[in-house]
Amino acid sequence: MEFIRHDVCQPLHVEVDEVWNLACPASPVHYQHDPVATTKTSVIGAINLLGLAKRLKCPIFQASTSEVYGDPFVHPQPESYWGNVNPVGIRSCYDEGKRCAETLFFDYHRQHGLDIKVARIFNTYGPRMNERDGRVVSNFIVQALRGEDITIYGDGQQTRSFCYVDDLVDGFLALMDAGPDVHGPVNLGNPNEFTIRELAERVLAKVGGRSRLVKLPLPQDDPMQRQPDISLARERLGWEPRIQLDEGLDRTIAYFRDVIDQAASRSAMR
Ligand code: UDP
Ligand code: UDP
Repeated sequence: MEFIRHDVCQPLHVEVDEVWNLACPASPVHYQHDPVATTKTSVIGAINLLGLAKRLKCPIFQASTSEVYGDPFVHPQPESYWGNVNPVGIRSCYDEGKRCAETLFFDYHRQHGLDIKVARIFNTYGPRMNERDGRVVSNFIVQALRGEDITIYGDGQQTRSFCYVDDLVDGFLALMDAGPDVHGPVNLGNPNEFTIRELAERVLAKVGGRSRLVKLPLPQDDPMQRQPDISLARERLGWEPRIQLDEGLDRTIAYFRDVIDQAASRSAMR
């Protein structure tokens, strides 16, 4: 195994058996920090990695996203739904970048016969997320552990469906191992849907402590509801998530508790 640090916006000449494209920040605060770089990463990155897979005649995986459905009118979202995406909003760099990447994948498949594997990933969480990731599960856990206010954007009635990271990785592997007639796009996520307020209450009940729930403004174009229809993944990949929110939160809280305790003991030693 060899690790190299490389920007996918630049061509990449390596010899490999498979290409897995997970490049691109996925947290709204991070992908909106440099939105032009976000679109370039998804679009130019896809072109370079598709060129690589074409030369090597090897399978190529694309981490796409539930954001291709935008603020959806169809609920839950099946892969056949074309979505409701604002092309000129603050989320567009991510949503349209990932949509264009899907287009490139399917055109390389049709035009050059590439074996593509496109997964549409729904909200995922778990250990080894960054404390400053900025997405809701890690934010709420870190805030609760530190006794800080828990920041609910809007009224907290918007929903998400949270998938534990190990389940997602199993889904990736099942998709890559599926036969050469399976290309997706296929939804990978956990269909159990929660309001953001419910999530805050569950995290607070588990962590305990003195945090208050506070409301902050809802960001522009924040989707109101999201739940994957995973019939296709069940049928074609024999996959479904196993770890539900209670257990996944326990494991993720334990992880962040360690991270925060270790940081506290390091600063106490200084
Ligand atoms: N590419 C790459 N690594 C390779 C092969 C191609 O990064 O091993 C890049 C290449 O620089 C090109 C892109 O992938 O910009 C698309 O390649 P493709 O062969 O599809 O297009 P072309 O080179 O004909 O423009
Ligand atoms: N959210 C929130 N507080 C936070 C972070 C996020 O209420 O500290 C909300 C956010 O407005 C959205 C939902 O939680 O409605 C999921 O946000 P996240 O950034 O995790 O993912 P995405 O919006 O990309 O699904």
